[in-house]
Amino acid sequence: MSRKTIVVLTGAGISAESGISTFRDNNGLWRNYRFEEVASPEAWKRDPGLVLEFYNMRRKKVFEAEPNEGHKALVRLEKAYNVQIITQNVDDLHERAGSSHVIHLHGEIKKARSTVDPSLIYKLNHWELKLGDKCEKGSQLRPHIVWFGEPVPEFPKAINIARKADIFIIVGTSLNVYPAAGLIHYVPTAAPKYYVDPAPQSTSTVCGLEIIAKTAGRGLPPLVDRLLSVADPQT
Ligand code: NAD
Repeated sequence: MSRKTIVVLTGAGISAESGISTFRDNNGLWRNYRFEEVASPEAWKRDPGLVLEFYNMRRKKVFEAEPNEGHKALVRLEKAYNVQIITQNVDDLHERAGSSHVIHLHGEIKKARSTVDPSLIYKLNHWELKLGDKCEKGSQLRPHIVWFGEPVPEFPKAINIARKADIFIIVGTSLNVYPAAGLIHYVPTAAPKYYVDPAPQSTSTVCGLEIIAKTAGRGLPPLVDRLLSVADPQT
């Protein structure tokens, strides 16, 4: 018998217990700019130095952070299920915890991209990306991030994965940022669905959703134990 597929949609909340602020925490707090005002193509045009500084501060935090019990619990699911993580996060804490299949809808903060050739993507081994740091074609590097107003190239792949979910888990997202928030509507109606978040949003239009109003670190380990205990044997 083939393994069941669990698809997990994660948001900023799963990394909160690792010390990385959520989107809402950031709102209005960073040098009096709103998140959207420094995470957009317009901001990059207006003041690339400011945008780089914003991401440098965030990247530094990510380099310092460690995966928490929530990230680690999702790795254990792989003992008995095909697990596909679709994250809105730009950190690499799922990968560092050991998850095998992770799609980043909104990019990856530890990577930089050419501004003339988007296929040129570079891994950053240090938190700082500066004005004057260039790709091999001589153009300025930008953060490898999907900014507000930009297309989400990984979304079609995410839709295909969501359609194949036998079980769907949502963790730590306010379900405010589209298109990611709409992914649940592609999940088969019959698939059991769970939502782990200490302050869950209204999801009254989603049927069969079990809400676990706890942090990722407290809510995910028991949920994972429960799912492992009902997994098909020998898979
Ligand atoms: P959001 O800030 O809008 O919502 C965060 C959600 O996490 C809230 O519902 C909150 O109740 C919940 N939460 C807070 N602490 C939690 C915990 N300990 N465990 C579980 N849940 C907890 O974030 P979002 O919905 O992910 O959307 C924000 C956007 O900002 C995303 O697109 C993402 O790319 C970006 N972002 C990413 C990071 C990161 O990479 N770590 C951090 C901040 C923002």
